[in-house]
Amino acid sequence: MKISDVLQKYSAQLDVELGSIINNYITLSDISSGADCAAVVKANAYGLGLEKVARAIYYNSKCNTFFVANLVEAIKLRTILPDAIVYVFDGIFPEQVDTYLTHNIRPILNDLNQIKLWNGRRQSCAIHFDTGINRLGLSKADTENFLNNTNDLKISLILSHLVNSEKVDNKSNNDQLNKFTKITHELKNVPASLSNSAGIYLGKDYHFDLVRPGIMLYGGNPGLPTRPNGIHDVVTLNARILQIRNLSPGMSVGYKAMWTANRNSRVALLNVGYADGILKTNDRNSHVFIAGAFAPVIGKVSMDMIAVDITEKEFDCVTVTDIAEILGTHITLEMVAKVSTLEPYEILTGIGHRYNRNYNLRT
Ligand SMILES: *Cc1c(COP(=O)(O)O)cnc(C)c1O
Repeated sequence: MKISDVLQKYSAQLDVELGSIINNYITLSDISSGADCAAVVKANAYGLGLEKVARAIYYNSKCNTFFVANLVEAIKLRTILPDAIVYVFDGIFPEQVDTYLTHNIRPILNDLNQIKLWNGRRQSCAIHFDTGINRLGLSKADTENFLNNTNDLKISLILSHLVNSEKVDNKSNNDQLNKFTKITHELKNVPASLSNSAGIYLGKDYHFDLVRPGIMLYGGNPGLPTRPNGIHDVVTLNARILQIRNLSPGMSVGYKAMWTANRNSRVALLNVGYADGILKTNDRNSHVFIAGAFAPVIGKVSMDMIAVDITEKEFDCVTVTDIAEILGTHITLEMVAKVSTLEPYEILTGIGHRYNRNYNLRT
């Protein structure tokens, strides 16, 4: 066996199904059929790997526009995709102007100072209008000021961001839609963008010219009542069993003895811990999937290990070095989100760097 195979065989595995990302993109793009569909690939493509993800989307779909959070991510993306349109949410600061220009990256201007900084440049930019999230973007006063004054900007996009897009009935959606629509009437010839993933599902009025999905490209459900049809799992995490122990009643497992056997128990130690991402187990509702059945995670998560209870007889066949699904088709992102009270965004971006990463492209 090659050394690389030996190393890989016993490490935990992260599988990214690039074909599912592409199919999810096509689903989101079809639903927003009157609008273009961009891809949000900030934070290393939500933790899954910027290079593989951006290439897969760009070369297998009609996607030509990408959003990242900051200039470092943008420069990485520029080397990966020399011809794509790249926007940066964080805005622009004086020392960064040359870098934006050199790498042909489009800043998203968030206040009047940034607008002044870019005024007169011949390279495109976007303007972010805050319509209620009070995060980035021109405030109400800035917006009025901007609309009442002429400028010398090449604006290729105006955008705003929804507060409650995953809550279909929340009235803030309609409020923000009305505010943003008014702005688009003032800037008639400029393409507009309002919706993230969940916003797409608020209906056609929310699509404008460009939609900006992130989480649903990666198989996540941002909090809709059910994950829509045509959005498929992307990520599978598999851990390896390092050791199996037999415990008598009264024996505890792990730091602080947070779990104690109340019967003769069989416990498997898996090679993923909190250093590999966010694995929360204290509520006893957390499971892994081994040999066709759900095994409860027990005790406290260690840095490099978790323990699971495999006493039930369906696990009799389980032996050392078998694998356990931590996340995938049986232990879904939605299930993990529910038992951990974390958002799917936090789970994905929290995936650690010790997994052996495999990228598959089945479409
Ligand atoms: C992260 C982000 C998105 C993508 O949101 P998802 O909920 O992941 O689809 C879109 N727009 C802005 C401004 C963002 O910050």
